[in-house]
Amino acid sequence: MATMYGDTRGNRYDNSQPESVVVLGATGSIGVNTLDIIARHHERYRIFALTGYSQIERLKQQCLVFKPVYAVVGQEQEAKLLRAALQDQGSKTQVLFGPQALIDVCEAPAVSTVVAAIVGAAGLLPTMAAVKQGKKVLLANKESLVMAGSLFMQAVQKHKAKLLPVDSEHNAIFQCLPEHFESLDDAGISRILLTGSGGPFRLHDHAALQSITPAQACAHPNWDMGKKISVDSATMMNKGLEFIEACWLFGARSEQIEIVVHPQSIVHSMVEYNDGSVLCQMGMPDMRTPIANCLSWPRRIESGVERLDFTRLAHLEFHAPDFERFPCLQLAIEAINCGGTAPAIVNAANEVAVAAFLDNKIRFLDIARVVAEVVSVQSSSEPTCIDEVIAADSEARERSSHFIASIH
Ligand code: NDP
Ligand code: MG
Repeated sequence: MATMYGDTRGNRYDNSQPESVVVLGATGSIGVNTLDIIARHHERYRIFALTGYSQIERLKQQCLVFKPVYAVVGQEQEAKLLRAALQDQGSKTQVLFGPQALIDVCEAPAVSTVVAAIVGAAGLLPTMAAVKQGKKVLLANKESLVMAGSLFMQAVQKHKAKLLPVDSEHNAIFQCLPEHFESLDDAGISRILLTGSGGPFRLHDHAALQSITPAQACAHPNWDMGKKISVDSATMMNKGLEFIEACWLFGARSEQIEIVVHPQSIVHSMVEYNDGSVLCQMGMPDMRTPIANCLSWPRRIESGVERLDFTRLAHLEFHAPDFERFPCLQLAIEAINCGGTAPAIVNAANEVAVAAFLDNKIRFLDIARVVAEVVSVQSSSEPTCIDEVIAADSEARERSSHFIASIH
């Protein structure tokens, strides 16, 4: 039976042959964690393609271990380097490059499962390609859903893709929801409680936030992640993007989602039912748990994650978020309420602003300024095709760059 996120029921584990997997963004934090799980269960998974962008040495090592049919990198120059290095080692992996190659490996008929773990808008087209081929898609790349939510979810339904949320909060919610439901209301769900650590600057005042450096913003207290999502966690834009992600994944209206700051990152999110019951999913803050959950769903496999020791958990705190000190949160929620291409614009402006911050061109608090400046507050109709989303993304990037140049 179909659920909000496609035909996950049809995805009963077939032990007879290994799943053929593409890992988009294999060289990143999620990619490395995914390969850690796959290495523990090599009899269940076979790697069809691994993709990276610039980290050629890491991708080479991964290719030598997992022996994919294809490896994909960003540019021709890197492809030449990787090809030569692999040939030297007697590897038969073929090396491709560029955005079309990412789409091609996702569309290959031999592939059953695509792990979407490229960071940012670059993940949109290959992830959509996998969805349109009805693959099992493990979604880490939240930006693609933020950018193109309605088109993405329509494609999941139309092409009977199996969409499984890797993002730890959404994976937690997924685990706390009934297996089948048509809508949250029908399922008797009153609220989704989306938890977040509050990031490394949860207790900083406005003045202290002004002088945050990229190195400080990238050092998250609980999670070890890529730079972009680490900065997003520090501004709390990550929670804003996750709010939008949850709206699309679970068919939730804004007022059905409440953000709860939980600094220990032990509860990964909760679902409240009409009878007052609240279900939560708990575990150590280690992405291998949600990745393993998605890879093996509906079964459970060993993930290598340390077990929770309740006798050593001092106490768990829960607070309301501070929208004033973390304006990105409000900007993202306003964007999903506004609809149309507003979330894509917020996402694009944020990506450009985060890159400028990491490049020391703007200050930490300027990230929210850039997004606020660029986002359109006028409501617009939902985009009817991906090209409209991409056009909104490009225009927002251009406006963001201009604004950054003006304040730099
Ligand atoms: P990383 O920065 O660690 O990795 C990003 C991956 O994308 C790398 O493999 C990188 O290649 C590749 N990449 C970068 N730019 C491009 C491009 N233009 N085209 C193709 N590939 C590209 O990010 P994370 O692993 O932390 O995050 C990946 C996604 O998962 C993000 O959307 C993030 O929001 C989401 N996510 C991450 C979590 C985490 O714990 N890390 C938790 C929940 C969600 P290379 O490194 O070779 O240049
Ligand atoms: Mg998350």
